[in-house]
Amino acid sequence: MIIDSDLTNRLQQQISKTRKAAIITHHNPDGDAVGSSLALYHYLLKKGIKPEIFFSNMYPDFLSWMITDENLSVYNNKNEDVIKNRIMDADTIFCLDFNSFHRAWHLKPFLKTSKAYKILIDHHTEPDSKSFDLTFSTTQTSATASLLFDIIASSGDTHLMDKKMAEFIYVGMATDTGSFSYNANYTRTYDILSQLFSLGIDGAHIQHLVYNNFTEKRMRLFGLCLNQNLTVRKEHKTAYITLPMNDLKEYSYKPGDTEGIVNYALAIKGIEMSALFIERKDLIRVSLRSYGNLNVNKIAADLFNGGGHKNAAGANSKLSLADTIKKFETHLPKIDNYRT
Ligand code: 5GP
Ligand code: MN
Repeated sequence: MIIDSDLTNRLQQQISKTRKAAIITHHNPDGDAVGSSLALYHYLLKKGIKPEIFFSNMYPDFLSWMITDENLSVYNNKNEDVIKNRIMDADTIFCLDFNSFHRAWHLKPFLKTSKAYKILIDHHTEPDSKSFDLTFSTTQTSATASLLFDIIASSGDTHLMDKKMAEFIYVGMATDTGSFSYNANYTRTYDILSQLFSLGIDGAHIQHLVYNNFTEKRMRLFGLCLNQNLTVRKEHKTAYITLPMNDLKEYSYKPGDTEGIVNYALAIKGIEMSALFIERKDLIRVSLRSYGNLNVNKIAADLFNGGGHKNAAGANSKLSLADTIKKFETHLPKIDNYRT
């Protein structure tokens, strides 16, 4: 995708003025959040800027191989002041893979207070553009990582792309598209992939690192989810999985362990929507997936004040696990109203 030259000119002007850049992404960073942040980090280094990445909470274990010598901090309740000061010290803040400050969770107050020039690079619907000085936003791309690739290319900086950056962009694109099985019907996706492979990346190895790294406990947790904890509502083309806290404890849950489970329920013949409900300490984490014209973004927003994309969305429910499921169940007969 060719990015408007007015936008890339403004971006490059700001980069040339920047003394210290902060890179912030959404809470519960996923492959696209981590991949696009790291790729941007290395791009900015090459542009002569020392960036720093801030995560609101820990990235999942299956992405830890990506992080080597980057200047990266993860918020926790002990380092709040340090993180705050460092973010406040940045004169440019890049916000990646989210559309509104609240998605940065623990980092939101710093984003709100900071007077820095804020740049959004994102692929969600309805970006909160008024909160940003410069907005790169489109849903017509596979991931934030692929949009970032286009921004770098449209800025005339394709030559700065190296193998490491290509690997990060590949991770973002692969994880946000279920390894190119959804949100990947763009010819540009494959143009970019071709360029990434020309830079020498090993796609099979990256897939192996990201997906074939289960602990035995995690694999057995998947087994439990697909066996005992699965409910199928064939009449509403829906299947959902519930994960109560006691199951998470029994299987020594670690962040990232539940990644991907929700997609399996969608693999049942005739099922067009899947959901996963995970009981956390103070909320229920909701994940929704769909196939085709069923808009789960709207379902997440209407039922649980969440959001996301047409075929993949999430939310935090403040109700109990039982009430969350009840609310979901009562909406199933209206599922056809959510077709686009
Ligand atoms: P996941 O189910 O993987 O946690 O989230 C799927 C997608 O939904 C994410 O890529 C993100 O775009 C969106 N999403 C997840 N959680 C939330 C949320 O709490 N609020 C909003 N607005 N979007 C979310
Ligand atoms: Mn994304």
